[in-house]
Amino acid sequence: MKPAGRIDLPERMRDPAMARLFAALDAADIAARFVGGCVRNAVLGSGIDDIDIAVRKPPETVMLTLRAAKLKAIPTGLKHGTVTAIVDGHTFELTTLRRDEETDGRHAVVAFTDDWLEDASRRDFTFNALYADRDGTLYDPFEGRADLAQHKVRFIGDPDLRIAEDRLRVLRFFRFHAWYGAPPLDGPSYEACARHSGALGSLSGERVAKEVLRLLAAPDPADAIEAMADAGALDHWLPEYDGTQRLRALIARETAPDGLRRLAAVLEKDADAPTIGKRLKLSTQQALRLEIMLAREPVMDVAGGARAWRAQIYGVGTSLYIDRLLLAVDAAGDWRAALALAQSWTPPDLPVSGSDALKLGLKPGPKVGTLLDAVERWWIAGDFTADRAACLAELERLAKHT
Ligand code: ATP
Ligand code: MG
Repeated sequence: MKPAGRIDLPERMRDPAMARLFAALDAADIAARFVGGCVRNAVLGSGIDDIDIAVRKPPETVMLTLRAAKLKAIPTGLKHGTVTAIVDGHTFELTTLRRDEETDGRHAVVAFTDDWLEDASRRDFTFNALYADRDGTLYDPFEGRADLAQHKVRFIGDPDLRIAEDRLRVLRFFRFHAWYGAPPLDGPSYEACARHSGALGSLSGERVAKEVLRLLAAPDPADAIEAMADAGALDHWLPEYDGTQRLRALIARETAPDGLRRLAAVLEKDADAPTIGKRLKLSTQQALRLEIMLAREPVMDVAGGARAWRAQIYGVGTSLYIDRLLLAVDAAGDWRAALALAQSWTPPDLPVSGSDALKLGLKPGPKVGTLLDAVERWWIAGDFTADRAACLAELERLAKHT
C-alpha cells in the first residue's frame, strides 16, 4: 500500500500513552497503523471515540509483546485477532490484519495475513479503509478521502457481494450516510442495499436497534432515514415508520440529539411501544421511555400556560415532560416558554403522606390512598401553593366528608 499524503493526527493519537504503546510494538518489530473510524475522523478534523490499530503480527505475539513491556493486554477475541491494550488508563484495540475465508451473511471466518491491502479489502466503505502511521502518513487504497470530501458512502468492491457477505452493511451504509454523507447517495451502493433489504429480518434486534439509534443520533439524520425507508430497509424491523415530518420539526426544536426521542418522532402516533421494545430488544428503561413518549394521554396542554405546564411536569416528571413537549410539534402554544419552565422549575413533593392520614385516626387501607390522591389533585389544581398546614387541613376535611 502506497502512502497517500499526510494528515495531522489529533492529540489523543499522539499522547504519551500512544507513544508507550508504539514503543513496545516498535521494539518487537510489529508494524502497526491506525485504521478505521479514528483515521476517518482525523481526516475530517472531527472528534474520535475509539482508537483501532491494525497490526501485522498474530494476536498471541501482540499479547506477549505488550506483557513483556509491562502493558496490560486483554485477549478480547484472539480467534478474530483482537487484543485490547490498556495503557495509562487508555484503551486501544489492536487487530491483526485479516482476510475473510468464509462468510455466511453476517459472520466471517477470518485468516490472518501480512498484506495491508487484503485487510483493507474486507472493510466496508472506502473511507473506513483509511490507515495512518504514527507520524500521520496516510494510506488510502480505495480513494476514501475523495469520497469523504464529496460526502459519498461507497462500498469497497461489488456492493451486492459485500452485502451478501454481511447484511449488517446495509444498515451501516445508511448510518454512515447519516453522519458523513450528503445527497445524492452513491447509486450502485444504494441500489444494492435496496435489493438486499428483504434479507434484514435475520439480523438480531439488538444490532438493528443499535444501528438505527446511532443513525438517528447524527446531527441531521432525516434524509438518511428517509432513504433507508425508501430502500425498504425498515420494512421488517420498523413497519410503524411514518415519515420524517415530525422528525424534522423535532430537530428544529432540540438542543441536543437523542436517538430514542427521534425514533419516537418517526413512528405512527399509535405505534405500540412494548411491541417495538420487544422486537428491538430495547432495555426496560428505553422501552418505558418510548411508551411514555408515544402515549396519547395526557394530551400536551402547551397553550394552557405556566399552571398547566407545572401540572404536567409534576405528572410525568421533568425529563419525560421535555421529551413529550419537544415531540408535540402540532400542539399550539409557546413551547419555548414551557421548555424554559421545565428546565428551571423543580416539581415539589406532596407535603402530606399516609402517616398523616393515620394520625387522623384513619385505618390503614385503600381509603388512605384514595384520600391522598384527592388531596394531591386539590394541591395540583391550586398550582402547588398550598403548604403542609393547608394540605393537612384539606386532608382532615376530606376524611370527615367521605
Ligand atoms: P464509529 O466507531 O465512529 O461508528 P468506525 O468506522 O470505527 O466508526 P466500527 O464499527 O467501530 O466503525 O468499526 C471499525 C472498522 O472496522 C470500520 O471502520 C471498518 O473498517 C471495519 N468494519 C466494522 N464493521 C464492519 C463490517 N460489518 N463489515 C466490514 N468492515 C467493518
Ligand atoms: Mg469505531
